[in-house]
Amino acid sequence: MYLYNSATHKKELFQTHTKDHVEMYTCGPTVYHFAHIGNLRSYIMEDVLEKALRWRGYDVNRVMNITDVGHLSSDADTGEDKMLKGAKREHKTVLEIAQFYTDAFFSDCDKLNIKRPDVVQPATGLIDEFIRVISSLIDKGYAYVAGGNVYFDTSKLERYYIFNDHDEEDLAVGVREGVEEDENKRNKNDFVLWFTKSKFEDQALKWDSPWGVGYPGWHIECSCISMKYNGDYLDLHCGGVDNAFPHHTNEIAQSEAYLGHPWCPHWFHVHHLNTNAGKMSKSKGEFLTVSLLEEKGYDPLVYRLFCLQSHYRNGLVFSWENLDNAKAAYDKLISRIAALDGGDGEVDWETLNAYADKFAAALDNDLNTSMAVTCVYDALKAKTNGATKRAILGTFDQVLGLDLLKKADEKRAQQAKQTASAVQGGYTITGEGDPAIDALVMQRYEAKKAKNYAEADRIRDELKAQGIELTDTKDGAAWRRV
Ligand code: AMP
Ligand code: ZN
Repeated sequence: MYLYNSATHKKELFQTHTKDHVEMYTCGPTVYHFAHIGNLRSYIMEDVLEKALRWRGYDVNRVMNITDVGHLSSDADTGEDKMLKGAKREHKTVLEIAQFYTDAFFSDCDKLNIKRPDVVQPATGLIDEFIRVISSLIDKGYAYVAGGNVYFDTSKLERYYIFNDHDEEDLAVGVREGVEEDENKRNKNDFVLWFTKSKFEDQALKWDSPWGVGYPGWHIECSCISMKYNGDYLDLHCGGVDNAFPHHTNEIAQSEAYLGHPWCPHWFHVHHLNTNAGKMSKSKGEFLTVSLLEEKGYDPLVYRLFCLQSHYRNGLVFSWENLDNAKAAYDKLISRIAALDGGDGEVDWETLNAYADKFAAALDNDLNTSMAVTCVYDALKAKTNGATKRAILGTFDQVLGLDLLKKADEKRAQQAKQTASAVQGGYTITGEGDPAIDALVMQRYEAKKAKNYAEADRIRDELKAQGIELTDTKDGAAWRRV
């Protein structure tokens, strides 16, 4: 599989430390608010990547952290603790906030068919391990104590910048964030491993440490969680593109200083979902969630398809119009699959393998998901029987996660329920046999016969409000719940 590697700025043949096995790490959510659909774009694409690797025969161990402490409102070490901000906003404790939004995150993931990682580790559950690694960094001369905090000394590294195409000045934390420099830092990009003297005296969660009561910095948690559950050699690290600097840069600095050897050769960054108003951001407080999509009547898998239709390395612009297009495409796709005659016939394995090869080629080409979706349409047009087409789609869906066969089967079942339910005076009503709905449809017919079109329209609107779609047929009318 060829994947773009943001550490080398090239598309490369993906290679692993151990044959056929991938140690994969994903930066998890900061659980002070709901995940927005931008965050979930990253998790959808990382999920597809994991599934593509499994589909290509790798055994994958995927690890994810849950940030429930230490992430300040700036990704550099300034600003308020995000968790504390959430707790204050909702008059709850930090732990209550963390539990609530962790559950909400995984519920969103379930709705979007995002598989749960093999290991999920909240940062607050591994504080002793962070303290052990920080102590070792101090012993090795990579970290120092100043003003009560422990800092990583970036001047000790041969190479600090890994991902940026900018020069150092551009990325200098003080300049970039427009905030006061921390006087304790020896070098402008040094970062905090352990806080005891943050600007906020009322930090809710604190632990004892050799450097005083305090809490860990954000970056150290990912290094430690990965090294604990992925081992000393990570194959693939994922996150949204905003994580590249300073977060991932600092993760590499800490891990390699601690391990004494290169840590992770391959970095996968998902570009942002934006609206016309700019980047979607949790900290601004106004953002789109999966629940909002559902409230507006969208199946969350429509959003998954929307994401798959574009490449993870391109920015993606969200608009309701774009989502409507994805909805129309999804509905049509499911209808076409539902119409397949899948019951009889033998699967033609040769045809299936030929289509699977094309699908694999799309995935192997830097996870070209829009091409992979095109393979679905190609399979529907294949000159083969319904059973083979269904088998091909079932295989593809192990990666795409669009519930193609399940939704198509549900649609068929719904259609099968539609039987002629009422015939009056030669007017046949086809539906699910609900007398109340049939009565309204009949009233509309009577109104039309009496040329009372306003009343007929009113009844159609009433049916629509009840979620009923009505279609006039040759002999009467057909209705279904939508
Ligand atoms: P957070 O919960 O803020 O730590 O972010 C969770 C994940 O979402 C991280 O991998 C971020 O890089 C990613 N992310 C944040 N904003 C966006 C966005 N607008 N589009 C795509 N991914 C994002
Ligand atoms: Zn991380």
